[in-house]
Amino acid sequence: MRYCIVGAGFSGAVSARALAEAGHKVLVVDERAHVAGNSHTTRDPETGVMTHVYGPHIFHTGDERVWSYVQRFATMRPYQHRVRAIAANGKNYGLPVNLTTINEFFGTSKGPDGARALIASKTEKIVWPANFEEQALTMIGRELYHAFFRGYTIKQWGMKPKELPASIFRRLPLRFNSDETYYDHPHQAIPERGYTEMVAAILDAPNIEVQLGVKFEELTEEFAHVIYSGPVDSYFKYELGRLAYRTLDFEVFRAEGSYQNAAVVNYCAEHVPYTRITEHKHFAPWEADSLAKTICYREFSRACGAEDIPYYPIRFAGEDSLLQSYVERARATKGVSFVGRLGSFRYIDMDVSIAEALAAADRMLECIREGAEMPAFFVEP
Ligand code: FAD
Ligand code: UDP
Repeated sequence: MRYCIVGAGFSGAVSARALAEAGHKVLVVDERAHVAGNSHTTRDPETGVMTHVYGPHIFHTGDERVWSYVQRFATMRPYQHRVRAIAANGKNYGLPVNLTTINEFFGTSKGPDGARALIASKTEKIVWPANFEEQALTMIGRELYHAFFRGYTIKQWGMKPKELPASIFRRLPLRFNSDETYYDHPHQAIPERGYTEMVAAILDAPNIEVQLGVKFEELTEEFAHVIYSGPVDSYFKYELGRLAYRTLDFEVFRAEGSYQNAAVVNYCAEHVPYTRITEHKHFAPWEADSLAKTICYREFSRACGAEDIPYYPIRFAGEDSLLQSYVERARATKGVSFVGRLGSFRYIDMDVSIAEALAAADRMLECIREGAEMPAFFVEP
């Protein structure tokens, strides 16, 4: 019997490749018409720009195994992500918060030590920050929090920052030097021919069959085991209720030349209805100058309904009993393991999806060799 992988995003593709390379036959299904899941890229026919269809995706990692893995399947071109933010005061600053942001915002001209002391004088002392807001107040203080994070976070998550986990705030660095690039990782790159071609290359192996436009629920074949990278609650037909997600709407517009001076400009004020504008040609600096036109996405976030694409799993700052019920249900179900962003209901980047899928595949192969039952989760949700 062959193995079934549900979802042709990074989690599914990397798992499938590992099983196939170990000699197992695999069927990969995805309900969408393309591979690469939310990382999907395609060339916009009108402008010729490689477009990140489900929102901006920048590959960044500090994991050497992942970095050498991706280079097997794509030419990764160096790319330094830069984000500008229109703060609540209407002025334009560089993000993440760095020495230049601090000096421009407070009207000072401090060096690293002075800026550190200035921020320390602004922060609030909370011994154990329990949520997004408390984390922000202890790290950057109230003024910067209100200028850059409060309004954006309310729009992005549809919740009060006090209800969100501190970990979301910790995704962003705080720097006391003038480095204005967005990520700290040593490897930052974009695949030259887009993510979809890269994932297609991962799936291009003799033991893998890919069926697109097919929902797992439509299949009648029996499988040795199912690796499910779709939403864990959808596998159980939402019998216990729906896990909360945010979905995104994109207002697409095109223009001559170029629209803004950064790939992403965030709009932090709560009264501006969108969160950010992405100009896709900046993701391919090696070809941007040769393109006469540009395509941009104005991004709006809202609660995810039954017919919408789930983008961001909403993790509450406290206990999540519905998720726990699904986890217990999954553990009691034989023949299926849940992986990836949706399967484990976590906010994970592409490199983490790949790292986790590689580690999960090592474990799957061990279970197969030993005739042992595969776990419901390889990483705790
Ligand atoms: P997905 O890519 O979501 O793939 C799951 C697939 O399963 C989908 O294609 C879906 O169609 C399919 N599926 C689900 N249910 C079924 C079913 N029942 N039958 C058949 N098919 C099914 N990461 C970064 O590293 N850098 C970034 O800059 C970045 N930006 C992001 C921006 C946005 C707006 C979002 C939402 C995410 C971003 N990410 C980024 C995260 C990145 O998208 C994920 O890490 C990655 O997509 C995880 O891959 P996955 O395979 O787990 O899930
Ligand atoms: N965030 C914010 N203002 C910004 C940028 C980010 O408040 O200008 C918050 C927001 O809550 C977001 C989180 O910081 O969800 C993490 O930011 P990141 O850039 O990692 O978000 P992503 O690009 O993954 O949506």
